[in-house]
Amino acid sequence: MKLTNKNYYSTKANQAFFSVSQVKDFLKCEAYAMAKINGEWVEEPTTPMLIGSYVDSYFEGTLEEFKERTPQIFKKDGTLKSDYIKAQQIIGRLHQDELFMSCMSGKKQVIMTGEIYGANWKIKMDSYIPHEAIVDLKVVKKLREVSYHKGWKQSFIEKSRYDLQLAVYQEIVRQNTGELLDCIIAAVDKQDYPDLDCILIPNDQLKFQLDQLRWKMPHFIDVKNYNVPAKRCGVCDYCRATKKLEKLIFPDDLIVFD
Ligand SMILES: [Zn+2]
Repeated sequence: MKLTNKNYYSTKANQAFFSVSQVKDFLKCEAYAMAKINGEWVEEPTTPMLIGSYVDSYFEGTLEEFKERTPQIFKKDGTLKSDYIKAQQIIGRLHQDELFMSCMSGKKQVIMTGEIYGANWKIKMDSYIPHEAIVDLKVVKKLREVSYHKGWKQSFIEKSRYDLQLAVYQEIVRQNTGELLDCIIAAVDKQDYPDLDCILIPNDQLKFQLDQLRWKMPHFIDVKNYNVPAKRCGVCDYCRATKKLEKLIFPDDLIVFD
């Protein structure tokens, strides 16, 4: 199957290839991931996702097409809703920064495929600068917000597994070109005065993320090929929407222990 910008997100492409977002779905809930892959569970894009797409499509040079196919970003009188006026202001801010714009100066939405841990993968890069760098654009809530995971502080990059995403991109680009490129997150946030930075993810961190994935992939491949039933997490939107009561429970069952 030859991937293009038209069929990249199609059910056929999702069934034929693994992607980072699929792996993130599998880590969350296997039943949910499979329902999405098969097109049984379709999620409407959220406002934060649409703001991200707005900025992405601006850099890709396809903002007009994006506006045409996304009427929900407009008010009844035809003007942009405030969230997208904000997106427009963010774009204006990014234009004032030379380093940010140079990170975003690569080829846009470049698709590549490759093989990792026994599966075929697809990637689509926001800004690909051949021989130099792979850049992914992120519009986040607050750039310097830290969260805790098992007692460790982490940034939005680890929390959202953007390091895993770029680890996969780096490996697929290496397979296609023989070059190990720098991996950068070009990030901007939605504060009144947006914070912005271009963050180079160390190769050690990328390697660690890819190594961690090695042990999980055989199971995900088995589930995706229907060799093993997909486990239900029991608490996600998909699981709640499709849940069937089988027995009475006790009050203690309502308390989830990690
Ligand atoms: Zn679930």
